[in-house]
Amino acid sequence: MDFSKLPLDALLSRDGFECGCGRRHRTDLRWLRIGRNAVGALPEMLSAIGGRRPMVVCDLNTWDAAGERVCAALEGAGIEYRLCRFDTRERLMPAEWELGSLAMRFDPTCDCILAVGGGVINDLCKLMGKAAGVPTAIVATAPSMDGFASNSGAMEVGGVKKTIYTPCPAGVLCDTEIMAAAPRRMLLAGVGDMIAKYVSLCDWRISHVVNGEYYCEGVAGMMRGALARVMDSLEGIEARDPEAIGTVAEGLVLAGIAMSFAQVSRPASGLEHCFSHIWEMMALERGRSYDLHGIQVGVGTMLVLPVYRWMRTLRPDMARVEAAISAFDGGAWAANLRRVFGRTAEPLIAQERTQRKNDPEGRRRRSARIIEHWDELVQIMDEELPDADALRGRMRALGLPMRPGDIGISNEDALDAFVCSRDIRDRYLSTSMLWDIGWLDEGAEVLKEVLES
Ligand SMILES: [Zn+2]
Ligand SMILES: [Zn+2]
Repeated sequence: MDFSKLPLDALLSRDGFECGCGRRHRTDLRWLRIGRNAVGALPEMLSAIGGRRPMVVCDLNTWDAAGERVCAALEGAGIEYRLCRFDTRERLMPAEWELGSLAMRFDPTCDCILAVGGGVINDLCKLMGKAAGVPTAIVATAPSMDGFASNSGAMEVGGVKKTIYTPCPAGVLCDTEIMAAAPRRMLLAGVGDMIAKYVSLCDWRISHVVNGEYYCEGVAGMMRGALARVMDSLEGIEARDPEAIGTVAEGLVLAGIAMSFAQVSRPASGLEHCFSHIWEMMALERGRSYDLHGIQVGVGTMLVLPVYRWMRTLRPDMARVEAAISAFDGGAWAANLRRVFGRTAEPLIAQERTQRKNDPEGRRRRSARIIEHWDELVQIMDEELPDADALRGRMRALGLPMRPGDIGISNEDALDAFVCSRDIRDRYLSTSMLWDIGWLDEGAEVLKEVLES
């Protein structure tokens, strides 16, 4: 299936698409509108998702950006609603406290939740909707991350960031004039979460070759097309042209649809996302704040592209793999995780008992495949990844933060995130491949040079 050629509305087909990859692709997103003055279609969205009495959730910033207009549109259409406004201009955190506050104010006579905001408000509302058993919809105020149409929320639970699965929002409304007025850093974050897809798609294909992991070319192609359109719109994003902002919003919504289609987050998240996950884990462990998700993954993307460039020059061989297997020290591996993650390290160490990624047998088997398919793997990197210098030039012109120091992260934390990326989830990354063939430490050296240059 070539999903990149289908109009957005067609992708929402209830029956989905029987695909050559063996899966039926569908999303639970029922209604989507991206464009100027889309907020005027709010009553249409509510009726499409079966909502008669929404609970509108916003904070003071998103109230100013869109909440007031949303409420006026509801009143104009004679739709009764309840308003839950977090009376703060500080960044809301996706944590138990805020979800509890939302739950205490939830009016059970409401039959849907209308999130007015970006990532955090959307995530809180998705969890609230799951708990209350009502559908959610979002009026997006900034194109800052790709969770609009995804079936999960990123939440802090007991001081640890976790992915919690929820139903996908039933409606997404992106008024591009509202979004074009978003804070500049949020626009940049959206671009960061999009350029991440270069690496996500590359890592997905690598794992497909090495592990036979499920992969769908149709879903990957849909993501590639969306990314290419965003890259063609950079000048317009800089100028806050609503058309260009709409392209970013569309890319971010499509990333959510791609994840639903594939039933895994692979099309939208790879090694570059691990930097963000690990930096958030470190920040929570140390009681510090952290930057926007999209900004962090943008930095992660810019950091790893030169490492992939070096990776393509390697020639893996079995002798090196055997030497690495002999040299592997499980105690030192666990001690390093404890040094980097503190208390949070124990579950990461414990999960090795079921994941067994450090086992010599699996490592030999994967390495044999890597060696056998090395030319193909290099070709995948050639096909998926942009030239690091060219992308850096374009991102610098846009003002995207590109170095850990730009977002308050030390070079050491960046190196630790690189080395430990293979340990945080049961997911095969290019760093997993480097470790398998005995080149991960050298990869970290390359990254160190990039960081110090
Ligand atoms: Zn498919
Ligand atoms: Zn992301």
